[in-house]
Amino acid sequence: SSPLDKEQMQGLRGIREFLKVRTSYDVLPLSFRLVVLDNDLLIKKSLNILIQNGIVSAPLWDSRNSTFAGLLTSTDYINVIQYYCQFPEDLDQVDKFRLSSLREIERAIGVLPLETVSVHPMRPLYEACRRMLKTRARRIPLVDIDDETGRETVVSVITQYRILKFIAVNNEQHTMLLKKPVRELGLGTYRNLAVATMNNSVLDVIHLMVKHNISAVPIVDRDGKLLNVFEAVDVIPCIKGGAYDELSATVGDALSRRADDFAGIYTCGEDDRLDSIFDTVRKSRVHRLVVVDDDSRLKGIISLSDILKYVLLYGEEEDAIRGN
Ligand code: ADP
Repeated sequence: SSPLDKEQMQGLRGIREFLKVRTSYDVLPLSFRLVVLDNDLLIKKSLNILIQNGIVSAPLWDSRNSTFAGLLTSTDYINVIQYYCQFPEDLDQVDKFRLSSLREIERAIGVLPLETVSVHPMRPLYEACRRMLKTRARRIPLVDIDDETGRETVVSVITQYRILKFIAVNNEQHTMLLKKPVRELGLGTYRNLAVATMNNSVLDVIHLMVKHNISAVPIVDRDGKLLNVFEAVDVIPCIKGGAYDELSATVGDALSRRADDFAGIYTCGEDDRLDSIFDTVRKSRVHRLVVVDDDSRLKGIISLSDILKYVLLYGEEEDAIRGN
């Protein structure tokens, strides 16, 4: 292997070592707030609370049994929308659904419930990463047992984004060794991309996300140039107040409702190297990178899970054989 390969592997090993000696707890800022929603809350009201707090997910609490009841994410709202599409005559009922009904909704539309994984905050961060990759969870709750009451408490939730940011900020000496271009690494997806245009309806895009099990669809013009990205979280403002009939609106309309502090979309080229991607993650709130050519034509998409998977698993077996 070339010196570049050796360096790359050295960088990856450095990051893996780091993830093994740090805990999920280390990722948390010194002070933070956590919005936990009661499972008895109406789904309709939960939308407003998320929007008002500028968040896109929250742990659920079963106050009858004093237990953690899973994580509310945009996938749950997409499930409610699918339910509405399958049973449009039930709109009255949809309005009355509580968060505790989410499991019934999953059953009614025939999707498998997401595995409710959690990790203990003091376990190695590496473990949280492996578990995220295994379950395809984009975020994972940190659940601890309260010393006094002996009950479960949700300490916080960590996302793939937080973890990559933590890696980027604390591992510059390792990420700078990752000099191979994304094209060579095969990082991301370049074939059978799910895309839409500004004139597609929001519902079209939601169906695409469900079908491909993805949380973002690039929006392109007729020449295949990238205009924007529609994300699963963009669904939340669309159905605020129970306005399910407005899902027939166009993507263009929906994207104009984004909050003023929207972080923007990030692009890169196929010749960009992983070190520069880590620089972007270090500086910005990146949730995925869209790969474009010099004419801003869509080439591919690199999700945070693609990066995490590469960083954790590339060459792992060989390493294990050599006893590293
Ligand atoms: P995301 O949350 O961005 O959907 P995931 O980590 O769930 O990302 O992505 C799963 C896989 O799907 C990744 O390998 C990613 O490259 C790929 N992917 C993401 N978006 C698209 C898309 N619009 N079309 C095709 N594949 C995609």
